[in-house]
Parts: sequence; structure tokens; C-alpha cells
Amino acid sequence: MLFNRTQKNPVRIADKGVVEWKYAACGYCSTGCSIEVGLNAKGRPVASRGVAEADVNRGKLCLKGIFEHELFDSAGRGTHPLMRDNWHEAWQPADWDTALDRLHGEIVRIQQRYGRDSFAIISTGQMLTEEFYTLGKLTRGLIGTNNYDGNTTLCMSSAVSGYKRSFGSDGPPGCYEDFEHTDCLIAWGSNLPEQHPIIYWRMKEAQEKRGFPLIVVDPRVTMLAQNAHIHLPVTPGTDVVLMNAMMHVIFEEGLEDRRYIDANTTGVDALQAEVAGYNPAMAARICGIDEDTIRNVARLYARAGAAMSIWTMGINQSTHGSDGVVGINNLALVTGNIGKPGGTSLSITGQCNAMGTREWSSCSGLPNYRLLEDPGHREEIGAFWGVDPDFFPKQRGLYQTDIYPAIESGQIKGLWLIATNPMSSLPNTARVRKAMENLEFCAVQDCYQDTESAQYAHVYLPAGTWAEKEGVMTNTERRVNLVKPITPPPEQAKPDLWIFNQVARRFDTNGTLSFPEKPAEIFREMTVLSRGRLADISGMSHELIEQCRGVQWPYTQEQAESGEGPPKGGKRIYTEDATFSYPDGRARLIPLPFIDNNEVPDEAYPFWLNTGRLIEHWHGRSKTGKIGNNNKYSPIPFIEINPDAAAEQGISMGEYVRLVSRRSDAVVMAMPTQRVPKNMLFLPFHFHDCANRLTLGLLDPYSRQPAYKQGAVRIELISDQKAAARMSMEMRKF
Ligand code: SF4
Repeated sequence: MLFNRTQKNPVRIADKGVVEWKYAACGYCSTGCSIEVGLNAKGRPVASRGVAEADVNRGKLCLKGIFEHELFDSAGRGTHPLMRDNWHEAWQPADWDTALDRLHGEIVRIQQRYGRDSFAIISTGQMLTEEFYTLGKLTRGLIGTNNYDGNTTLCMSSAVSGYKRSFGSDGPPGCYEDFEHTDCLIAWGSNLPEQHPIIYWRMKEAQEKRGFPLIVVDPRVTMLAQNAHIHLPVTPGTDVVLMNAMMHVIFEEGLEDRRYIDANTTGVDALQAEVAGYNPAMAARICGIDEDTIRNVARLYARAGAAMSIWTMGINQSTHGSDGVVGINNLALVTGNIGKPGGTSLSITGQCNAMGTREWSSCSGLPNYRLLEDPGHREEIGAFWGVDPDFFPKQRGLYQTDIYPAIESGQIKGLWLIATNPMSSLPNTARVRKAMENLEFCAVQDCYQDTESAQYAHVYLPAGTWAEKEGVMTNTERRVNLVKPITPPPEQAKPDLWIFNQVARRFDTNGTLSFPEKPAEIFREMTVLSRGRLADISGMSHELIEQCRGVQWPYTQEQAESGEGPPKGGKRIYTEDATFSYPDGRARLIPLPFIDNNEVPDEAYPFWLNTGRLIEHWHGRSKTGKIGNNNKYSPIPFIEINPDAAAEQGISMGEYVRLVSRRSDAVVMAMPTQRVPKNMLFLPFHFHDCANRLTLGLLDPYSRQPAYKQGAVRIELISDQKAAARMSMEMRKF
């Protein structure tokens, strides 16, 4: 039969036999979409859908969210505790008591023999906030090691550090609604359509209505850059030079907001003196953006009624990451663009609950942005928890990226990894592997038992994942949303909260500290601790959060008691006459001299290596690599290479090549595309034993975040393409 073009051929959505929908917030990225998972008559999760009345996503989900129900049954889930004497031996099944006794015993043994800080704990941005809070209480209040950090150091610590330096506290000031008020948007190193698709949709919808200029600063022609009015293909690692040159133009042409500067900031004279040295003609030679474009963009930004910056890893993952964030804040402050609708500097966070760990995990201090360095904060939390304040360290310990060198040098002997996989996510894998082999004891607590890091563990603790548990998460715009248990963890796997409470009991045999078992009870404890703080959640409860599909902080008890209908929470944390968190209430304008300390291409290694994400995958693919509809679109590692560079090297589309850096090598498939300039290769970082074999990962001096996006490589041709294909298939493993 001939196909009739006038006939409608609607897509038929398969009937999955859903009998009940259960509510959660998505467990992948920090956008914070509200999601419902459909259960069939047997109680198995069979479908996912967006929640229409949720303000964040308004019924939509991206490619990851729409298949999230497939997570629960994915391959490699851990179902029983496992133990072994040495990491290279075969696993033996264990019961929970034996495995937890071993973990407790090893922590005590190592701390007694080598000192309190010789045992390190590294967690994640993937758990629920009540779990973070409980782990913080366990670590700070009972175990007492100061070498405790989260894997958020790999993605967000530059944003945290930059906010603290500029405003006196962490906490993204803006919200998604700012897209609907802004007159100019600059996206710095952020590829929204692939990394945060639903935020992109919010931005795009606002832009189509209001037509504000979109300026994208990115060395690569990303999907977002393809949609930009102006694309600035900046030389990697030189964003600060571009920012300084823009401020040079703003001051030179009198475009700054003097009223705002005088009322709300300190340091303008020193900043102005510093940027005076960044004439755009000079800056163009460093940052690769021509003088006219720098001037044009500076004018567009400064003359806009309200101007907004967003950024992600292109800024954070740099040796100048913290300075880059401060530079974005400087631009906002000198033009009066903090605290008004559409005028903000909004860090787009990475993991679903990276914000929850920043607020409540105590990794870098004490709960709710309290500082170990502040005696008053130590007293306050000590009294609240029932811990002698002298037990707390007086300054934060090592960042994750400094913990591994400390393992190498023998300063740290034991490690507890919680929902994180450093063997995949840290730069220079060969060095991480040696460090892991050096440990006297390693415990891995994860929902998957087949992670690369679990290969080096002595104890494996099977944890529940995402909506097998209950608790809250905070998204990029400070919206606290609820995850409810959709299905229980498989077999003997347990929620992370249960595991922390069991470990706490072993350290606190007299029950001196309180470790509630119910997430809602823990949340109530957190609301009390939040009263009067920047991240005030004292007006919230699990019930209210679910009813409102998420509430933004601050939302105070007074607001809740005033009974003004469903709460809107705090869209913005600062107003136009903002009181920032420094004691004098003023933000700091900080001069940023540029020091070029990156590895750069040279004769031996002539290409920039730029790493990043794909829409289909999540981080190390331990989740999405096992979900067919995510994995099938990007199943193997590949590079984007400019067609002219490919032709010069004699490389054809689909050919396997070897990338070589000063660290190691990796085999990838070549995909010629104009998205990258001739001297740059783009390599998605998701694949096992691939990108991070090559990365150098120099650290930012303030945030200790690695520079994943600036390194140098060369290409070698491979004559045996079949063998290369086999190697590439190996990298598909997780
Ligand atoms: Fe989940 Fe992020 Fe996709 Fe929303 S945009 S569905 S939060 S992965």
C-alpha cells in the first residue's frame, strides 16, 4: 500500500500497564526536575514522566530523566555486603554486621596507629541531604577525621570559592526565572542544551519571548554556541583576561553603576587599577577574541537594563576557576547586576544534590555554611549535637584532590568512598591507581559493585540508589525538592542513611549523640539549625515541599506562619541594596592578575585537549552506560577533530586513533567536525579508562579543583584498526 502523505500517523506510546505514579526529584543533574515514576501491577517501575505543575520543568524531562525508571534494575547493582583480605583477591559474601564491624574496626585501628586524620572519607553530590547531614555528624562528631570531602571538589568548588571570595558566603544568588527578566545573557563555558537540557528550554523560551542577546564564551562551537548571537571562541584558560578587558572597557567608557558600587562593594579602586592594564587590543593577543568584539560585548552587557551570567565547568575546571567566578561576580557588581530580577551571576551546578552537600554535609566546615575556623560556629554546633567543640578541627582538612597525593605519600592509610568513583573521575588515572594500591584499607559504599574503584576495596557496602530512599535535594536555584521511595533497594542493599546510623552506633556505644532514623525527623533537626542563617529552611517540611513541588531557600518559619498561600521561597538571596555576608555587608571587588600556568600545546603535543559531556550520559556512565536508550546513542569514546586537522594527519571519519599526552594514551574514534578549531580536540569524559588517562589536572590554588579542560596531546595513527576497535570496546566497560 502506498504511503499517503496527508494521512496523520501519530506516534503510539506503548501502554506500560502503569497502575500508580510516585513522586520524586530527578537524580541526575542539578536542574531539579520533578518526576513521577509509574509502577505496574507487580510494583515494578516501568515508566517516567515530568510533573506538569512543577515550576522547574513544567511537565518536561530530558533524555536521561525519561528513562530514569530503568536505573533500578540496571546491571552491576550490589545486593550483598562483600569482604576480602586483600584487594586483588576474590570477594566473599558477608553479613551486614560483619562488614560494618570491619569498617568500624579498621577506622579505629588506623586512627589509633597513625593519627586521627590518617583515615579519609570522600562522598558525593548524589545522596540525599538528610544523608549528607548525618554523614557530617558522624564524621565531625564521632570519627573526627578532618580529611573529609565530597567529589563536588571536581565540579563545584571553584564556584563555592568564588562566591565566598566575592560575597562572603557560598549560595547562588539567582534563579531560572531571571531568564524571564534579563536583557542580556552571557554563558561562560556552559553548554546548556546538552548539560542541563531543561534549564536550556527555560532559557530558550524566555529568549524567544523577549529577544535578549545570547553571548556564548566557549572555545568550541557547542550546541549553545550554535544558537548564540555572538560566539566568543576564547583561548582555553584565558577567561580572566577577557573579563578584565571587558571591565577595562566598562570603566574607560563610564558604563559602570557608581551608585551600586558605592552602596554595596569595597575595592573598586584596586580593581580599576588592575583592569587598566588590560587594554582590549593587548588582551586580544592572549584570549584570542578581537578588540572590537570585546568592546561590543562589554557595552551590550553593561548597557543592558539587567544582565545575567551563567557558567559551568568551562569556568570551574581550570587553574583559574575560582578567579573566573570572581571575575564574573566583578562584572556583575560593577554594573549593579546582583540582586535584581534578570541581573545575577548564576553558577549552574553539576550533580543533582551538589547544593545539598555544599549546604549540609560539613565537608568544608559545619552545617549550613558554618565555618570550622569560627569558634562561635564550633561552639554552636558542639552544643546542638552534644559534642565537645574542641573535638572539631579548627580549619578545614584536605580537599579530595589533595587526599590522593597524601595517600601516595603514606600520610593517609585508610579510605571510605561513598557513591563516588575516583578511578574514573580524577585526572591522571595512573597516579590514582597507584594511590589506591597503597591503601591499607578501603571501603566502597555504592549502589553499583562493579565500579572501577571497588576493584581496590576490602569491604563493599551495597547502597540504595536515588528513589529507593527518602529525603530532599537542592537544585541550582536553591530549590529544595523531595525524593520519595519508589521501590526498595534490591535484596540486602540498604539506604545510605541506614548505613551511616549503623556505623554511628559502633562509635557511640552510649548513644550520646542523636542519630534519628527517619529522614523527616532529620529534616526537622536541620530546619532548627538553619534559623537565621543564609540558607534558612525553617519554614519547610517534607509535606510542604512535596505539595509545592519544591521550595526555594530562604523560606523562614515567619514566612510559613504568615500563611500567605503556597510559598514562593527565596527567588534571590540578595536584593539591589543587598547585605552580603561579609561583616560590613559589602561585596568584594577583587583584582585578578592573570598568570598563565596551564599546560599548552607545543611541537611535541600540538593539540589542546578539551573534555566535556554528552547529553546521553551522566558522569562516569555507571548509570547511563547500562540504560539501553542512553547508551546506544554514544556507546564508544570518540574525539571531535577539525576536518582540516584530520586531513593533515591523514585521518578519516570513523578511524581509530591513539591520543598521547605526557601522562598516558587512549584509543578513540575520530569524528571530523567544524565544532572544534584546528588546534583542538574535544573528548567526552564519560568513558572508562579514557579521558582521565590523558588529563593533567593542575589544581586551582583557591578551590583545589582540577583543570580538566586544559591539556596538550598529540595524535598517532593506528595501522591495526581491528585491534584498536577491540581496545575501544574495552573502554565501554564500567
Ligand atoms: Fe533530570 Fe537534569 Fe534531565 Fe531534568 S534536565 S530530567 S534534572 S537530567
